[in-house]
Amino acid sequence: MNIEIKKLTKNYGKKIALKDASLVFPKGKITIILGPSGSGKTTMLRLIAGLLYPTSGEVLFDDTNVSNRPANKRNVAMAFQNYPLFPHMTVVENLRFPLESKKEGKLFKFNVYSEEEIEKKVNEISSLLHIEEHKDKYPSQLSGGEKQRVAIGRELIRDPDVFLFDEPLSNIDARLRYEMRMWIRKLHELLNKTMIYVTHDQSEAMALGDMIVLLDDGKIAQVGSPDELYYDPSSKFVAQFIGNYPMNFLSFTVEKNKCKLTADKKNSLPEKASKFILSKGIKKGTLGFRAETIREFDHKKPIDKDMFKLECNVEDVEKVLDQQILTLNYRGEQIFYVTKTKKRFSKKDSISVIVYSDDIYIFDEKYERV
Ligand code: ADP
Ligand code: MG
Repeated sequence: MNIEIKKLTKNYGKKIALKDASLVFPKGKITIILGPSGSGKTTMLRLIAGLLYPTSGEVLFDDTNVSNRPANKRNVAMAFQNYPLFPHMTVVENLRFPLESKKEGKLFKFNVYSEEEIEKKVNEISSLLHIEEHKDKYPSQLSGGEKQRVAIGRELIRDPDVFLFDEPLSNIDARLRYEMRMWIRKLHELLNKTMIYVTHDQSEAMALGDMIVLLDDGKIAQVGSPDELYYDPSSKFVAQFIGNYPMNFLSFTVEKNKCKLTADKKNSLPEKASKFILSKGIKKGTLGFRAETIREFDHKKPIDKDMFKLECNVEDVEKVLDQQILTLNYRGEQIFYVTKTKKRFSKKDSISVIVYSDDIYIFDEKYERV
């Protein structure tokens, strides 16, 4: 099912939690709603689920306006951070529960599913979830990941049109989270359902999503594939939020048709970046480059017009397995540099790094990408 939101706005009293959001969640894909805490992710998801009604705007399911339809009439499944299983029921009983609902008939209530149908579905779901050996256990006897799989299974068994997740892995320990991500990807391949997945964790978003919607304070900052958000961020906010290491930023000014770093007016930007800035007629702004794209300056190789050099001091070294994450000081500005070199750095070392023209992003005074 295709889901569309049109100018969707939600206010809580004076607080605008979501403002004018318009977007299509493509059929059969995993779309991630990503953003810092309080940016409106849960609000967006609950509006789609029908657990909240919009202040203005619309929610469309396959072109039908469902904005005023309650959650139980939308055929959506939901999984949250806390897996609300019934503690007094076994795994099988929990899974059967949604299928045992009765429908009001003319004379008496009747079962929606026959006993054989229920058993068949429970068996299918248990094998899909890899929980066959836990079928007779109670929730308290399961690990976090197992509980979450049962909770997801209980939603799946109703055969929903749409799957909504709100930070379902945040209570699960880091090691297991990788496994669960893989499992969610597999589940998606098997079911081919439209899935919307909320997370504040950009690495989870990058790993799971076909498409990412990044929210910033109730507004959509950017929509795109993981690669588009990483390689082509539309603003400084996006550039900062996406990536395993913080992006580096230095301000620049244009004086007498030359682009210079504000921290060191003697240091001109590489030719390509300079030309680009001059062509846009910007007088000042910020340039950004990622910690993983800079290189240590090699004295044997002269710098050319497509790179520039920053002479820095090492302020801090963090060693993570085969990587060193260096915090450098460039004339009072902080620069992060990630390297896999065998050479060991220590505090107070001096180091020169090279930034390549092609790795530079330019932002204007309003922090929009140019
Ligand atoms: P997220 O899921 O991204 O952390 P939410 O959608 O939960 O963000 O919340 C967005 C904003 O709306 C936050 O500032 C939050 O404090 C506010 N908010 C959420 N629910 C309510 C509510 N029921 N009443 C008042 N403010 C709320
Ligand atoms: Mg939330």
